[in-house]
Amino acid sequence: MGRVTSYAELAEAVRHAAAGLQDLGVGAGTRVALCMPNMPHYPILFLATLRLGGVVVNVNPLYVERELHHLLEDSGAQVIATCDLTDVHARVSAVAAELGVQHVITCPIAEGLPTLQRIAYRLFRRKDIAPARHEPQHITYHDMVARRGEPTPVAVSPDGVAVLQYTGGTTGLPKAAMLTHANLVVNADAMVVHVGGESATQDRVLGVLPLFHVFALTTVLSFSIRVGAQMILMPRFRLEDALKTIARTRPTFFPAVPTIFGAIAGVAATRSIDLSNIRACISGGAPLPAEVHDAFTRTTGARLVEGYGLSEASPIITCNPIDGPARAGSAGVPFPGTTIEIRDLADPARLCPEGERGEICARGPQVMKGYWGRDDETRKVFVDGALRTGDVGYLDPDGYLFIVDRIKDVIISSGYNVYPRVIEDALYEHPAVAEAVVIGVDDQYRGQSPKGFVTLKPGASATPEELRAFLADKVSKIELPHDIEIRDALPKTLIGKLSKKELVEESKGRGAAL
Ligand code: AMP
Repeated sequence: MGRVTSYAELAEAVRHAAAGLQDLGVGAGTRVALCMPNMPHYPILFLATLRLGGVVVNVNPLYVERELHHLLEDSGAQVIATCDLTDVHARVSAVAAELGVQHVITCPIAEGLPTLQRIAYRLFRRKDIAPARHEPQHITYHDMVARRGEPTPVAVSPDGVAVLQYTGGTTGLPKAAMLTHANLVVNADAMVVHVGGESATQDRVLGVLPLFHVFALTTVLSFSIRVGAQMILMPRFRLEDALKTIARTRPTFFPAVPTIFGAIAGVAATRSIDLSNIRACISGGAPLPAEVHDAFTRTTGARLVEGYGLSEASPIITCNPIDGPARAGSAGVPFPGTTIEIRDLADPARLCPEGERGEICARGPQVMKGYWGRDDETRKVFVDGALRTGDVGYLDPDGYLFIVDRIKDVIISSGYNVYPRVIEDALYEHPAVAEAVVIGVDDQYRGQSPKGFVTLKPGASATPEELRAFLADKVSKIELPHDIEIRDALPKTLIGKLSKKELVEESKGRGAAL
C-alpha cells in the first residue's frame, strides 16, 4: 500500500519546497534538474520550481554519466534534485561536481522500493566517473523544507519557459524543447475537454510511465492537477506490480505505451484482469499495432484509444475520441485548438491534398517555443510557422490522421521507399509474434534492405523461415525481409518504446544476408 497525499497537503508541500528553493537562490529562469523516478518529491519540486519562475529540466535517472553530463551542461542547471538510491546519487554527484553545479538536493525515495528495482538501477552503473573539480553544496530535501516558510511571490508569464524537455533528435546529442507554461496548460486543458471535463474530477489516473517523460507529464501530472483527479504514481512499470495496483486502486484512465498494453494482453489471455472501471486506456509514444489493440480489447474488455504526439508539442496533437468513433489504425483527430497539415516530403512549401502522404506538420498553442540554445535547429523544424514532426502520414476524408512511419526510419531499397511499419504490422499478425521491429541494413545490391527482429509470445514457437513464408503474401517482394531474427528481448527506450537505434548500430556494416 502506498502513501496517500491530499491536494491540500500537496499545496502545502509545494509552498515549503518553493520557499526552500528560493533560499537556495532559485528564481526566474533558474534551471532546476529533476532526476528521480516517480516519487512524491517529483510533483512537489516540479510545481515549486514553476511557481518561482524557474525552469524544470527533466532528466532520466537511468542516464549514464555521459548523458547526464550533456543534459546538465547543455541546460546550465544550477540545482539538481535527485533521489538517495546509491547509484543514481553517485552518478549525479559526480557529474554535478565536474560541472560546478551549485546545489544537489537529495530526496528520500519512498520506503519499500522493491529490491529488484534497486538492482535494476545498479545495472546501469558505470565506473569511469571523472574526478571532481568542484564540490556542490549537498542538502537533504528534509533540511531544505525545514524552515517551512512562505516563498516570496514571483510573477510568472504564460510565455515563460517552464520545462526543458530533452528529445532524441535524429542525429547527434539530445536537444531540449522549450515548453512554456501556456504550452503545458493548454495541452492539459485540451485533454480535459477531450476526455469529458465534468466527470474528470472523479478520475483516477494510473501513472506507470515516468513523469520525466512528457507523455506522462501531461496525461498524468498536469491532467490530474488540472481537474483534481487522483494520481496513482508507480516508481516504475513492472507487470505484476502494475496488475496488483490496478486491482487495488481501480484506475479510470491508463495512459501507456503499446508495449505495456501488449504485455497486459499477454497475461489477460490466461488470467482475468478486471479493468471494468477504466474509461479509456490511451496508447501513445509509438505506433499501436492493430493486433495489440485487438488482443488487449478482446482479453480485457477495456477501451483502448490511440493518440499521437511528440516532445516538441507538449506532447499531444491528435487522439481518437474517448467516447465517440475511434478509427482503427488511425492516431485520431486533432486535439482542440490544433491544426494538422500534410506537406510534400520533397517540397515542404507545398500542402498535400487529403489522402496524400507527406510530412505531418502541426500548429497549435501546445507547440514549443523552439530548441534551447539551438536557433539553427529551431529554424529547420518550422515551416511557415508549422512544426515539422519528422513523421510521414496522411489525413482521411473525415480528418483522421494515419501515421505511416518516421521519415528517418524509411528504408530506401533499390530506390523505393520501404516503410518498416508496414512490415512490422504484418509480423504482428502472426499468432506467435509478441513484438516486432524492422530496420534497414546495408545491402550491396539494393543500397538498403529490411531486416526483422521479433520476440515470441510465451510458450509460442515459430522459425524465421515460417515468419518469412507468412509475410510473403502480405507484403511486396521489396518489403520482404531476407533475414528475420528471433530474440528473447528487444531494446526499449526507458519509457518502454521499442527502440531501433541499438539494432541499427549493431547491424552497421554487417550487410544483409543474401
Ligand atoms: P518523443 O518526442 O520522444 O515523445 O517521440 C515522438 C515520436 O514518437 C513521434 O515523432 C513519432 O515518431 C512517435 N509516435 C508518437 N506517437 C505515435 C503514434 N501514435 N504512432 C506512431 N508514432 C508515434
